[in-house]
Amino acid sequence: MSSADNFVFPEPEDQDIDAGPHEPIPYVDGNAAAGALSEIFRIDIIAALGRCRHCGAVRAFGAAMVFTDAPGIVVRCRDCQGVLLRLVQTPTRYWLDLSGLSYLEIDREE
Ligand SMILES: [Zn+2]
Repeated sequence: MSSADNFVFPEPEDQDIDAGPHEPIPYVDGNAAAGALSEIFRIDIIAALGRCRHCGAVRAFGAAMVFTDAPGIVVRCRDCQGVLLRLVQTPTRYWLDLSGLSYLEIDREE
């Protein structure tokens, strides 16, 4: 019997059966932060280019690593994992920390 015959796509609850102490924290891509950020930025943030202050990488915001299992949303650089952006929402306010970005390059709407 080949191993392909026995392949079963793992159920979500089975994913960390072998989890060790240094198992990576799950994250999603920049699209996951788009909803909350679209309330602040009236621009297409996903297509915007951002420069990481930590390593200098310039990438589309949509390529960033978004951690939602944190106090608020934490967006990290895909190259160096440095924090690019933090966003905390309360019922009346947003707290937005962009200190990990040197700049954002945003296409102007036509
Ligand atoms: Zn970086």
